[in-house]
Amino acid sequence: MLGLGKIAKKVFGTPNDRKVKATRPLVAKINALEPEFEKLSDEGIIEKTAELQKRARDGEDLDTLLPEAFANCREGARRALGLRAFDTQLMGGIFLHQGNIAEQKTGEGKTLTATFPAYLNALSGKGVHVVTVNDYLAKRDAEWMSNVFTALGMTTGVVYPQQPDAEKKAAYACDVTYATNNELGFDYLRDNMKSELAQMSQRDHNFAIVDEVDSILIDEARTPLVISGPAEDRSEKYITIDKLIPELKDDHFTLDEKTRNVTFTDEGNEFLEELLATYGQLPEGQSLYDPESTTLVHHVNQGLRAHKLFTRDKDYIVRDGEVVLIDEFTGRMMSGRRLSDGLHQAIEAKEDCKIQPENVTLASVTFQNYFRLYDKLGGMTGTAATEADEFAEIYGLGVVEVPTNRPIARVDEHDAVYRTANEKFAAIVEEIKKVNATGQPILVGTTSIEKSELLSQLLTTAEVKHNVLNARQHEQEAQIVADAGKLGAVTIATNMAGRGTDIKLGGNVEFKIMDAIAADPDTHPDEVRERIEKDHASDEEAVKAAGGLFILATERHESRRIDNQLRGRSGRQGDPGRSSFFLSLDDDLMRIFGSERLDKVLSSLGMKEGEAIVHPWVNKSLEKAQAKVEGRNFDIRKQLLKFDDVMNDQRKVIFAQRREIMETEDLSEIVDDMRTQVIDDMVEAHIPPKSYADQWDTQGLYVSTIENLGIDVPVAEWAAEEGADDDTLRERLEEESQKFMTEKAEQFGPENMRRIEKQLLLQTIDAKWREHLLTLEHLRSVVGFRGYAQRDPLNEYKTESFELFDGLLNSLRQEVTTNLAKIRPLSPEEQQEMMRQIAAQQTQQQKTVQAATQAAVEEAQAPIEGFDENNPETWGNPNRNDPCPCGSGKRFKHCHGSLV
Ligand code: ADP
Ligand code: MG
Repeated sequence: MLGLGKIAKKVFGTPNDRKVKATRPLVAKINALEPEFEKLSDEGIIEKTAELQKRARDGEDLDTLLPEAFANCREGARRALGLRAFDTQLMGGIFLHQGNIAEQKTGEGKTLTATFPAYLNALSGKGVHVVTVNDYLAKRDAEWMSNVFTALGMTTGVVYPQQPDAEKKAAYACDVTYATNNELGFDYLRDNMKSELAQMSQRDHNFAIVDEVDSILIDEARTPLVISGPAEDRSEKYITIDKLIPELKDDHFTLDEKTRNVTFTDEGNEFLEELLATYGQLPEGQSLYDPESTTLVHHVNQGLRAHKLFTRDKDYIVRDGEVVLIDEFTGRMMSGRRLSDGLHQAIEAKEDCKIQPENVTLASVTFQNYFRLYDKLGGMTGTAATEADEFAEIYGLGVVEVPTNRPIARVDEHDAVYRTANEKFAAIVEEIKKVNATGQPILVGTTSIEKSELLSQLLTTAEVKHNVLNARQHEQEAQIVADAGKLGAVTIATNMAGRGTDIKLGGNVEFKIMDAIAADPDTHPDEVRERIEKDHASDEEAVKAAGGLFILATERHESRRIDNQLRGRSGRQGDPGRSSFFLSLDDDLMRIFGSERLDKVLSSLGMKEGEAIVHPWVNKSLEKAQAKVEGRNFDIRKQLLKFDDVMNDQRKVIFAQRREIMETEDLSEIVDDMRTQVIDDMVEAHIPPKSYADQWDTQGLYVSTIENLGIDVPVAEWAAEEGADDDTLRERLEEESQKFMTEKAEQFGPENMRRIEKQLLLQTIDAKWREHLLTLEHLRSVVGFRGYAQRDPLNEYKTESFELFDGLLNSLRQEVTTNLAKIRPLSPEEQQEMMRQIAAQQTQQQKTVQAATQAAVEEAQAPIEGFDENNPETWGNPNRNDPCPCGSGKRFKHCHGSLV
């Protein structure tokens, strides 16, 4: 019987049905235009683009241009690729243009779908970014779709790591630019470390279409992008702090061994304040609770942890003057591994070892905040609906399920639950053997590389020929995954492996042709193509007859979305297919969630050794368990984001300021404003408003006038004059310092002065910002530690980081004013020397940034440590034509990279 809700859905349609229905008139319009566009000549299509571009520039709404633009794009793509876009692809394109996530199943042709909104939105001339999960896909899609854009008279670019600057800039200048999320984020950060506008490579953040959007905006959004570099040497600080730790008594702090946290008691705080003051670490009148004390508190915390929570020869050993960590589970030394946030340095200080330099963040951004920069965002994936809440809340993105072009014919079986992992794996091997004998191709999904390997061993023992993949070697993998649909193929892959590559029944024609040409270079490519295409048709039929692709999942992932993704690799475009999940009570998810209850129910259902329970109830309760984990992960991401949001507002201010400085020819007004503010602050500090003359500190004002403004003026005399007050003093100081600076500018020559101002401003901003980033990192760990009674750490973080930022702006003004007041015209030799120094400094900075980003990019790209020629896992992503990394001397494609 249908529930009431289901009946209502039948009658009124779901909200999603209504959204889909709403696009039908638009699709009909595009279809009606088709005959007209079919008649256009190839030039006619390009002219149409020019016309649409003009109309867009003249202010016509993109929504009104949509039908013609889509019709033109469909025609262009048909000619360039030989693919006529399905109505469902137009629909997906409409949803993307409207700023949604279009959920389109695997094999529905999302790559082509994206060209429609990309084309439409590029008409404005502001560029569109198409974002992919890895460099291989960025390149593949750019190459493939550039045919379409060229036919339409638009330019296509692709951005990749370590690309020469000029090329990168050119790629961003294209109408449509393909890039990975990593490279986009890094370019954004790098751009904002440049000192001239012309060196920046990105332009507008107009519209981004993110492919595999769940992977990028959810899975990868847990870790921010970071560019880091060496910090200045702070060995002294560590050593000093280390000395005072032993003076702390037990009642000064509490230890939490489990979370490895320390918290100071109120007594401890008081004692510390005195102690730090005696050691000259805490300026007079400053409390440990002041935001200025953040870094100090952080260091004390780390020092205390180093002493009380880390024990020599248990947690670490000292070898050759170095602190080497010990793995708590295996007891092995972990050479090269270092604790972060200055904790390792604190232990080094404790053990009198040489203090190794720290790496600090030079720039960072989360993907959430990077992608929020875009005026409009759209996304595509096969699986988004389960995460609709997060997309809506964090990115303001709606999720629309686009109907499939053909009905799905895949059969999804209920989960089969075994008692133990061993029984489960035995059953899996049996099933694979049985199915493999029929020729039906099998894709086996695992949740980790280790499990893939385990299964591979079992299959080898059972003498089943198979391929093993993990999600690291994108290009090579794409080829093997593409062939996973061949008759008799058995492919083991982690769930994420080969994402973005379509598995076609009977194998991938293009890959087959490429291989055939490589194997037989003498035959004409057209002949090869003809032969392969003919063979392929029968291959495809044979696989269809065998039941299509069989997806065998060996465990449920924490996230149902990832499970659905795996499932969705079978049954593309109405193909036959089957999917089945094999589980056991030993699985992580089962153990963590309600397995006791499960246990009872399962035994009441009567579980026997080697036999599986298959019951809809199991599916339901697992779905609930997954929803719980997903909810928790969302909370973690939200919390992280809240912290980053605080910094993000500040980052935006700083980056905007930098930009303004670079864009502005003449900064004198900004610099004058800064000086005025500094004078205001000086006067206020020494001549409090509405105060009596005997409360004035004219001597102090005199001294700071010399220090900050570089002028020696009779402040005391002015103050003694009839009717003098803070306002008259302020005015006279402004007048005098203005005069002084104007004279200086004349001596330098206005052009030189403007250049100096610009240099100085940028340099000072950058230095202050980096220092601020470090302080914020410290603050974050400190708000967690401090005994803040009932106060909310996030609120504390917000308030304090705001104060710190305010302090940053203050000291920025002050430093710029003081330094400008101090400079004097130089002799030609001195001038040359100064220019040389500036140039050297700039090169140095560029080098640091380059090295840092390179390291970051490498880390982001290849999480593979230590190359080992005997272990293909460590080879990264070899080029198919390069020598095989195993050292055989053969080409990679004929050796370990061989596809057969
Ligand atoms: P997805 O990213 O949605 O999984 P792809 O963009 O990788 O799908 O496309 C899958 C396959 O479908 C490709 O081989 C492509 O050539 C093919 N394809 C896409 N659009 C069409 C179309 N309109 N007609 C026929 N084949 C298409
Ligand atoms: Mg795709």
